Amino acid sequence: MTESDGHNDKVNLLGLPRQKMEQFFVDIGEKKFRAGQVMKWIHQYGVDDFEAMTNVSKPLRARLAELAEIRGPEVLLDEVSQDGTRKWVMRMAEGNSIEAVLIPDGERGTLCVSSQVGCSLDCSFCSTGKRGFNRNLSSAEIIGQLWAALRTFMPFDRTKERPVTNVVMMGMGEPLLNFDNVVDAMDLMMDDWAYGISKRRVTVSTSGVVPALEKLGEVTDVSLAISLHAANDELRNELVPLNRKYPIDQLLRATRNYLSGLSDRRRATIEYTLMEGVNDQPEHARELADLLVDVPCKINLIPFNPFPESDYRRPSGNAVKRFQDILNQAGYITTVRTTRGDDIDAACGQLVGQFEDRTRRSQRYIPVHQEVS
Ligand code: SAH
Ligand code: SF4
Repeated sequence: MTESDGHNDKVNLLGLPRQKMEQFFVDIGEKKFRAGQVMKWIHQYGVDDFEAMTNVSKPLRARLAELAEIRGPEVLLDEVSQDGTRKWVMRMAEGNSIEAVLIPDGERGTLCVSSQVGCSLDCSFCSTGKRGFNRNLSSAEIIGQLWAALRTFMPFDRTKERPVTNVVMMGMGEPLLNFDNVVDAMDLMMDDWAYGISKRRVTVSTSGVVPALEKLGEVTDVSLAISLHAANDELRNELVPLNRKYPIDQLLRATRNYLSGLSDRRRATIEYTLMEGVNDQPEHARELADLLVDVPCKINLIPFNPFPESDYRRPSGNAVKRFQDILNQAGYITTVRTTRGDDIDAACGQLVGQFEDRTRRSQRYIPVHQEVS
């Protein structure tokens, strides 16, 4: 049978991708096509009450209410930053809260979604990592971030307005360490019965869990972002401790393999967080350009976003520009991620949520000033 997420015995239909939803209906002796009907109510109309599903017979609605539920996260806070970035703090089961962020940009609206409560990987420049790790999110909790965010816009004309056109798995957590639930949630993002977002506009970002990346191509064809941040193992070992297990050459090989398995010619996005005096010098840019020659990619530079526990500094605008110019001249499409939403702590690496750290890592870091959340 299908998963329930611990709250009670009811199956939470919110997190079931198409096949699992069909199986649910088969298991209760109903026809498969009910899956499509119910998925549309849940994901396209934001419904969480079976009674609202008017094309489902009354007796079946009553039966569904007995066996199943549609339980999304509770929105605790809905904040809009001066630049239009919107942040929701959402409460998950067991009282943990996580954050999802929407970055509007012209016609495009990119939702940044979390995959775990905290992160176990402890990258040296990441605020999420410093807070330690609590647990994986269920598929319902992952897709629930998109579901709940869209509900705050309802009702809207889905044929015209699309508040969310893109999803990036770049919130809290390492998505490839929560593989099955992330894949199920991304399936729903792309499913026409649910959100119908193109595979090019759903992006999974990883710090380099190589075995999972090797498996990924067998189950999905979403777009890929690689958090590289350094062009040699010595420096990357320091910034991304996971590199000691899966060094750069393995990571780039897995990246190339993933891309070559896609049916279209797509590039990976190489994410590179720039930290002053650490990885932002011209020689670093040249080393990066040499390293990536065989990788179909574009490069996204992210000037470091400071947070209280960290000593790193953001490079000057000139240093960022110089770094970008070297990569452009070497033939790479290189963009700089503008910092959005930092007045509401919604910028990259600032998403923290509130949760109990099971790793006790957070005790090792003493905030310089108290965080306002
Ligand atoms: N765990 C995944 C996805 C979440 S992090 C990963 O690491 O890819 C999303 C992106 O934000 C990553 O590229 C990460 O390196 C970057 N990031 C983390 N902390 C940051 C900070 N303080 N400033 C700028 N970027 C940061
Ligand atoms: Fe985890 Fe990604 Fe932060 Fe590293 S950068 S600690 S992998 S969330």
